[in-house]
Amino acid sequence: MSKTKYIFVTGGVSSSLGKGIISASLAKLLQARGYSTTIQKLDPYINVDPGTLNPYEHGECYVTRDGAETDLDLGHYERFSNIPTSQANNVTTGRIYQTVINKERRGDYLGETVQVIPHITDEIKRSIKILGSTGDYDFVITEIGGTVGDIESLPYVETVRQMRWEMGRNCLVVHLTLIPYLSAAGELKTKPTQHSVKTLQEQGVQPDIIVCRTERHLNENIRKKIALFCNVSPTSVIESIDAETIYDVPVLMRQEGLDVEVLNKTKMPTDSIPDLSDWEKFLFKLKHSKSEVNIGLVGKYTELKDAYKSINESFIHASAANQCKVNLKLINSEDLNDRNADKKLNGLNGILVAPGFGYRGIDGKIIAIKYARENKVPFLGICLGMQCAVVEFARNVLGYKDAHSTEMYSKTKHPVIDLMEHQKKVSEKGGTMRLGSYPCRIKKGTKVYKIYNITDISERHRHRYEFNNKYRENYEKAGMILSGINPKDDLVEIIELKDHPWFIGVQFHPEYQSTVAKPHPLFVEFVKAARKHKKS
Ligand code: GLN
Repeated sequence: MSKTKYIFVTGGVSSSLGKGIISASLAKLLQARGYSTTIQKLDPYINVDPGTLNPYEHGECYVTRDGAETDLDLGHYERFSNIPTSQANNVTTGRIYQTVINKERRGDYLGETVQVIPHITDEIKRSIKILGSTGDYDFVITEIGGTVGDIESLPYVETVRQMRWEMGRNCLVVHLTLIPYLSAAGELKTKPTQHSVKTLQEQGVQPDIIVCRTERHLNENIRKKIALFCNVSPTSVIESIDAETIYDVPVLMRQEGLDVEVLNKTKMPTDSIPDLSDWEKFLFKLKHSKSEVNIGLVGKYTELKDAYKSINESFIHASAANQCKVNLKLINSEDLNDRNADKKLNGLNGILVAPGFGYRGIDGKIIAIKYARENKVPFLGICLGMQCAVVEFARNVLGYKDAHSTEMYSKTKHPVIDLMEHQKKVSEKGGTMRLGSYPCRIKKGTKVYKIYNITDISERHRHRYEFNNKYRENYEKAGMILSGINPKDDLVEIIELKDHPWFIGVQFHPEYQSTVAKPHPLFVEFVKAARKHKKS
């Protein structure tokens, strides 16, 4: 195998231009040519990981198989490439400093003054090269969070400069920038891009490829102008036009030849043809729906789409699989009450109650679940959503009026959801939940068995509380089926209702494992059930 090539993706002019999508699209294209790739995100903030961040701060926290709490861009990487990521794929400044400081305390640098250069930059380099050193990848694509010029990004850009110097053509920089359109002038403007490239150059880095995010097509003159001012060849100016869906971007990047530029510059053969036929089939089905359904997503972060990113994307995958458009309606659980539930939930063909933490919005979630249960609306409860379904059943079917999760009400007489045994001793917040993949055994003859069609599955988790096993019998007698169990720790992972067409709660997060190549069966079947509900 050839030596691993390192590709850095930096951003200029503005945040939110879609570095994650460009990185994932490039990985997809290289993969479609038969190259093995992995993508990494370096985040310049001081948190050791985003696990302690409020979703309003940074969107959803994505969880990998090995239990890392990571940036949501890793979700895009997995959804596009269908290759699992791990802790090594997301590194923050906090983690870099923590490692360096631990080494200093251990005496690893005895006698030396520990400094940003070389100690911090060496540690950043180590975190990048660790992916290449496995020998598994032809390309390691490293996305640098933030925008060039940020104080926080400096050590990362400096690391890129050093790696370029050391590795020559085995290292490449793709700079994503914005070309704004000024309607008053009727023109696309290149000046902000010129400035952001200058900023990179001042820090010693010459980008090799400029990807231009734009609302309007770039003409030849604009491309030449960018090339001239930014020291790149015109073929290295790549247009990234606003797309109907993020899933169009790999196809658009193929048209623009981003992969060819990367391969030429890293001296890799370009004779293979990128095979995107499955991807194009997915896009066709996504854009040619034969039916549509309304699904309510009940949660408390309804002003921010990114808070439930993976759930949104899982519905897109399931929508294509069913050729059925999903109109996802965000419903703020804090606004739901007994008086308005009928009005707010009427017309939905499916209700999903979202994961979450803390008391806020809990009552509305329980009301939405009662509505779904009584009106036989397809229901999917994820993590806290499943726990709320257990509470709702206790209160309204078993008659335990004050039943609750001890997360919300520690003095309840009926703690049907309780802290897991090993969590009782935990006091630190960061990285201490039950995290990552755990096995689950599905009971034959259940609805979920029909959905998965296998007994042994593995799904990703992120929680501290759990179904209280003391109540198992009471639930089972009253018609709740505990259809999935963790075989080692005997924890309830899946619940479903006997007398309901489609009512399923899962303690894990299926949304983290849904990809374009492998839409998650729970989402696919949930949309199917919603379509059936609509017909009836
Ligand atoms: N707050 C709940 C717990 O910690 C659920 C977590 C979640 O929904 N991810 O168990």
